[in-house]
Amino acid sequence: MKAPIFSVRELSKRYGSATVVDRLSFDIAPGQCLGLIGPNGAGKTTTVRMCLGLASADEGEVLFHGASGVLKMPADSMAIKARLGIVSQFDSLDPDFSCAENLLVFGRYFGLSDAVIKERIPRLLEFAALANKAQARISELSGGMKRRLSLARALVNDPDLLLLDEPTTGLDPQARHLMWERLQQLLQQGKSILLTTHFMDEAERLCDSLIVLDHGRKMCEGSPRELVAGQLEPDVVEVYGHGAVALAGSALRALAERTEVSGETVFFYTHNAGPLLQGLGAHKQLRTLHRPANLEDLFLKLTGRQIREDA
Ligand code: ADP
Repeated sequence: MKAPIFSVRELSKRYGSATVVDRLSFDIAPGQCLGLIGPNGAGKTTTVRMCLGLASADEGEVLFHGASGVLKMPADSMAIKARLGIVSQFDSLDPDFSCAENLLVFGRYFGLSDAVIKERIPRLLEFAALANKAQARISELSGGMKRRLSLARALVNDPDLLLLDEPTTGLDPQARHLMWERLQQLLQQGKSILLTTHFMDEAERLCDSLIVLDHGRKMCEGSPRELVAGQLEPDVVEVYGHGAVALAGSALRALAERTEVSGETVFFYTHNAGPLLQGLGAHKQLRTLHRPANLEDLFLKLTGRQIREDA
């Protein structure tokens, strides 16, 4: 891995007696996308907030490796923030301003001159596929457009690292694909991304490396492919429909290495699905889906299938 641009070392955060981030460490290299995944309450947002200096860490360090040396949160908070961009799932665009004005006002927070920002605005709007919306009001934009404008806004200071907190939550499939395509472009330009997401397909597409968090602790870290191959049986047979759950306690169970139940679906995990599929042939009323194991399976294995109380 290239020398990191951003590091978190043994970071911990407590609220009262609850440790919500527990000795978390990671590095992000230039051009790398690191994903944080985990169930609700796992500590993802708190981690991002500490990276941004919006929440103070009880222990540990947030470090930015700048051209002129290492910067540390919170002492160098202003200098670090100048190198970061953030996009959250909640759009915080100013409804009183047009798209172009939103970029202008935001750029001023970084001390950029109007001339510099105005020079950047056309490129940023074009990047966000909003070139013809410069004068449009925020209320005229679709959800996807607003999110892309938020991304353009996060780029106004030409940051090295983007922190994206569930950047495609609430978007339709087309808008999500366009967002992913733009994020890939940024990675190719050498920008780094720290991403939190609930979408395993998003994590699989964008992330070079993933951390599964639960109860504030790192459960595992690696590329999506390594994690799936290293932690799971390669084949999954999903069975659903009336009476499917009873199969989890039947003789078929012996034909799989691992069996899990979630709602009305049984998941059989195996290295060889042949005998199992043959056995399922006797249950014509049930629907079966034979597929390779994926990140969703890993997520459920590591964090459990029960819905959390705060989910
Ligand atoms: P995630 O983003 O993974 O859903 P969060 O980082 O939002 O998780 O929350 C982690 C835990 O910290 C949760 O149990 C949440 O209730 C708790 N928490 C977050 N912020 C606060 C706060 N300001 N005060 C008290 N508890 C908090």
